[in-house]
Amino acid sequence: MVATHAGKPGGRRRLVVGNWKMNGTHEANNALLSALKGADLSASDVVVCPPTPYLCAVADLLAGSPVRWGAQDCSHHAPGAYTGEVAAAMLAELGCTFVIVGHSERRAMHAESDALVAEKAEKALDHGLVPIVCVGETLAEREAGATGSVVERQLAAVLDRLGDRISGCVVAYEPVWAIGTGKTASPDEAQAVHALLRSTLRDRSSSGEAVRILYGGSVKPENAAELFAQPDIDGGLIGGASLKASDFIAICRAAA
Ligand code: PEP
Repeated sequence: MVATHAGKPGGRRRLVVGNWKMNGTHEANNALLSALKGADLSASDVVVCPPTPYLCAVADLLAGSPVRWGAQDCSHHAPGAYTGEVAAAMLAELGCTFVIVGHSERRAMHAESDALVAEKAEKALDHGLVPIVCVGETLAEREAGATGSVVERQLAAVLDRLGDRISGCVVAYEPVWAIGTGKTASPDEAQAVHALLRSTLRDRSSSGEAVRILYGGSVKPENAAELFAQPDIDGGLIGGASLKASDFIAICRAAA
């Protein structure tokens, strides 16, 4: 079901996702989630993606809250002899709603290919999860004028595999050069890439207009509102700033 949100074509409701990466302790998570639970974040959809070992505790802490939780990755395999892997079915059992796939850190550090990312997205959908499919160019690719071709190639791999099932996904544009660096794409730069992704989604799927496209890369309370005001930016995937309650709450409010 696609919730409506005034002002965005396709009825796209704003979405803000916190990617905690490999950070957290029980104590820090309790403090962060208590602050989120105490804030009124109902004007947009809000999700946190803690490291997998904390998912059970996070699910307990968020009981009764509109804040949802998700995972940072899933296996493309069904449960079986895959040491260290986590199946999408298991994440669904833990009450996850979303799962990030194809984050640039996994593409770079774990050599995840476009095809593998598409398989992961499919497994997530098969188990009722919403895959957040990350795409984005490196600095060298941007400087070579290849931004459009890179993100189009990454998105095409997912569209080729999923077809109209793309309507169950979220796409996140995360320029690699902006992740954790303090450098943010300007609102115009980000909007240009989002518009390109939107046009491909529209061309390839009748529900392309309704797919939410998030921006990620050094989003902060100071730049969030201007980014989220762009016509094709439907919210954010937030790394570093999602670990600080006051910053994450301010970013969620900027999306409202
Ligand atoms: C991310 O890891 O997805 C991210 C966008 O990180 P940061 O906000 O820290 O740049």
